[in-house]
Formats: sequence, C-alpha cells, structure tokens
Amino acid sequence: MTDALADWCASRLGDLAAEDLLRTVVPLETPSGPRIRVAGREMVLMCSNDYLGLAADTRLAEAAKRAADEWGTGSGASRLVSGATRLHAELEARLASHEGTEDCVLFSSGYLANIGTIAALVGPGDTVVSDALNHASIIDGCRLSRAEVRTFPHADAEAAAAQVAAVRGDDVTRRILLVTDSVFSMDGDIAPLAELAHACRENDAWLMVDEAHATGLFDGGRGAVHAVGVAGDVDVLLGTCSKALGSLGGFVAGSRALCDWLRNRARSFVYDTSLPGSAVAASLAALDIVQTDDSRRRRLHEHTRRLATSLTSHGWDVMPPSAAIVPVVVGSAADALRIGEILWEHGVFARPIRPPTVPAGSARIRLCPMATHDTDDIDLVIEAFAACRREIGR
Ligand SMILES: *Cc1c(COP(=O)(O)O)cnc(C)c1O
Repeated sequence: MTDALADWCASRLGDLAAEDLLRTVVPLETPSGPRIRVAGREMVLMCSNDYLGLAADTRLAEAAKRAADEWGTGSGASRLVSGATRLHAELEARLASHEGTEDCVLFSSGYLANIGTIAALVGPGDTVVSDALNHASIIDGCRLSRAEVRTFPHADAEAAAAQVAAVRGDDVTRRILLVTDSVFSMDGDIAPLAELAHACRENDAWLMVDEAHATGLFDGGRGAVHAVGVAGDVDVLLGTCSKALGSLGGFVAGSRALCDWLRNRARSFVYDTSLPGSAVAASLAALDIVQTDDSRRRRLHEHTRRLATSLTSHGWDVMPPSAAIVPVVVGSAADALRIGEILWEHGVFARPIRPPTVPAGSARIRLCPMATHDTDDIDLVIEAFAACRREIGR
C-alpha cells in the first residue's frame, strides 16, 4: 500500500463529504425485520427490499440450516465444473414453472445475472435500447457488451418505439435488445410493458425485463410482467431471490435455448462459483410461501397505500407507488441528509438516496414498508415526517 493512493482516496472522500455525497456503512445489530437495533437504538426499518419480511423468517432459516447440514457451506466451483447440486436444478425448475417459462438459469446475484446476460446476447454491431433510469447492473451489462447503447427518457414508450424502429430501419440484421426494469427501484413506478412489448414485436427486437423489485409482490407471487399480461412477449425475464424472496441469487427465465446459451456464454455464470446450498434452499422455501400466502402481500400493499396517501396529504412530494416503494422527493442532497437525520432521531431508519443513484435535485427518502410492519410502525413513520415539517418548516 502506498501513501499516495491513500492520500488520493482521502482527498476524493473529502470532496464527496463537501458535496453531501459521502456514504457510510451502518451495521445492524439485529436481523432484517420490521424493527431493528442499530447503533444501540431500536428503530423501525424502512429501507429494506425484504418486502415480505422473509429474510429472517424461521422457515427459510430452517431450510438453509438443513441444506448446510446436508451440503456444507460452500459449493466449491462454478456450476459447469463441480458446483452444481440437485438443489440448484430444483430451484431452476421451480422458478421456470413459477414464471411459466421452459427453463431458468440461476446466477449468484441479480447483478451478475444482468451483466452476464446482456453481454451474452448482444455485442459490437448490435444495439441495446435502454430506459434512462434502468438499474446500475443493466447499465454495466450494456457497457460490458460493447453494443451500441441508446437510452430513452424514463418510461417513454413512444421514444423507445421510435428508437427501436429507427435502428431496425437502418439495419435489418442487427440484434436489438430492449431492456427495462419492470418496477423502477428509485421511482417505484412500472414500465409501460405492453407498449414496449408491442414495439419489440413490430421491429423484431428482443424484450428483456428486470423484475428485481416485482418478483413475489404481484398475484401468485409473480412479478409485474404477469400482472400486466405481457409474459408471452418477454424474451428474457430477469429476477432476484435477494429482495422479496428474502434469500440470495439472481435468475433468468425464458426458453430452454436461451438458458442453455447463457450456461455456455454468460461469463458471470461460467466463471463464478455457484451459490451455496443454504441460499438455494432458502429461496425454495420462500417460493413455497410467496406462491400460497396472499396475506403478506395484502398487508404490504395496505401499508404502502397508507404511507403514500398520508404523506401526500401532509404536503410531501410522494411519487405514486405501483409496487411497494414509496419515494418522498425532497430536492437537494443536503435536505435529504437532514430529513434522514430527523427521521433517525424519531426512530425511523430510512436512508437518504442521493446522486448519482438519482438525478441531481431529486434526492429523496425512499420508504419501503414490509409486510411484517404493524400499523403502529407506519403511524410512527408518518409522525416522524410531521416532526420534520415542524423542525425544518417544510
Ligand atoms: C437489486 C437489483 C438488482 C441486483 O440484484 P441483486 O440480487 O441484489 O444483485 C438488479 N436489478 C434491479 C432493478 C435491482 O433493483
């Protein structure tokens, strides 16, 4: 280690702090749940993607323990070498049947699924058409692919269709991949999936949808693609086991040929050690729950609606939630930090979201209720926002 490197890092960190953009890691002292202890304080957790409260559910933990007893803690190699077990195959089959596709391929995370899949499907000479607010892992996948990338304004189906048509008009042979989040992670809205699917059909383009914030939250525990009725038009359906499913792992569901191609050519599948059996078993247990237990989703959606309605009526700039993300836009990074601090003082753990995660001037508090919160928890959040208004006069 050289002093020069440490000096450079320290100086860049100083710049971030001066712009209110410094980020720090805050370790929890209890598992993910509706209420947690952090820095010695009991807080209501409002910024976890563990929407259904499954990440610390004893049924998942029991399944993981049994799998650890049977399969150990590490898988030892990538799936193509010696890292494949019966459990991996079982989860792939279960996910394929859940999504109504021929096959499914499991990656170690959603991030790895995105970068490996996009780079395996398009390359130099091809085009990716991508929503401006797509997740960082999609953006990184586009860059890795070295395909031409055209972004369209967020959720603007007309602009997307025009781009796809223009690219196809120029070149009848190139591959075109249109890629979008279904539920957007920082805005909480749903992509215009039916219109995007139509544009792809008309122009011989492939449609890839990232359901990271949707899987488990809609009817039957599926995502927005099924809720909107476009499942038959989605060529590449990507999801994660790390959010509503309370475990770890990413997946791509689609045709058998697509999945076999990814098993051969997605570098983040080929060269990455496979998930341990414990994580896979926890995902299997989560699927059992999300497919049968509608009550969790109902409670989650009630909390989401109440938070959004109540904060809006108190004058906050709330983006209308389509799934379970309630973004409260406050403006500058400094305002978001200040409001985050006041919420903290009132027992609410909800971290400010600042650039570059969101565009400058739209820093926000992103609230994520959980199915396992009770109404008192939600009341406490609403009360904490009221306290913010009193303290900073918003
Ligand atoms: C979280 C997220 C991912 C990454 O999934 P992980 O399993 O956490 O790696 C991918 N896409 C979107 C839209 C996400 O929100």
